[in-house]
Amino acid sequence: MSCLLLENILHTCSQYPRLSWLYTRRQCVIIGSGFGGSVTALRLAQAGIHCLVLERGGRWSITPAQNTFATLRTPDGRCSWLSSFAVFGEPVPIDVYTGVLELLQEDGINVYAGAGVGGGSLVYNGVTYQPTRTNFERIFPKEISYNAFKARTSLALPGKNTNSTGIPVFVVSSGL
Ligand SMILES: Cc1cc2nc3c(=O)[nH]c(=O)nc-3n(C[C@H](O)[C@H](O)[C@H](O)COP(=O)(O)OP(=O)(O)OC[C@H]3O[C@@H](n4cnc5c(N)ncnc54)[C@H](O)[C@@H]3O)c2cc1C
Repeated sequence: MSCLLLENILHTCSQYPRLSWLYTRRQCVIIGSGFGGSVTALRLAQAGIHCLVLERGGRWSITPAQNTFATLRTPDGRCSWLSSFAVFGEPVPIDVYTGVLELLQEDGINVYAGAGVGGGSLVYNGVTYQPTRTNFERIFPKEISYNAFKARTSLALPGKNTNSTGIPVFVVSSGL
């Protein structure tokens, strides 16, 4: 989105009292509140930079009854982003709603993406795979050290082939 367009949208918002908070000057605008956007917002905020995070999807309140989301067996509009059929599992007809998972059908490939506050964390399987040094160093710039990364992450599920560890006790006990 161009800066001018964004500026116009924010200026329009300033005309309406309920939206005027949007017009507060920010140093940074982050589009999307998934893993990338939310971690970026956290780190920038910790550095004292005033951020605005814009998220297209809804905020899903987790209920004690654990019925916030649709299930694979009983899909409804909550499971899919603006789709008339369930995008995961059986493609049964559902009400069109701003649900948590978007399906993008591209040329020969189906791409799934999370939608909502938290992005992919709303739908992902909780598997944290630890990359090999070779893959890590191929992708990340050299300023980011593999050893520092490895020392700080040990969240991967146990697996013979992944050389990974269990979920640390502090994560389990936090109830996340
Ligand atoms: C079903 C599923 C299971 C997965 N399981 C795993 C797993 O077990 N382990 C693993 O490591 N990874 C898993 N992934 C992948 C992981 O979820 C993604 O790699 C990760 O979410 C990408 O983070 P991101 O911040 O780039 O994007 P996302 O987390 O997708 O966040 C993007 C956000 O931007 C928002 N957005 C998009 N466009 C706009 C717009 N125009 N305006 C405002 N907001 C917008 C979206 O609603 C979304 O909230 C899974 C993904 C899916 C779909």
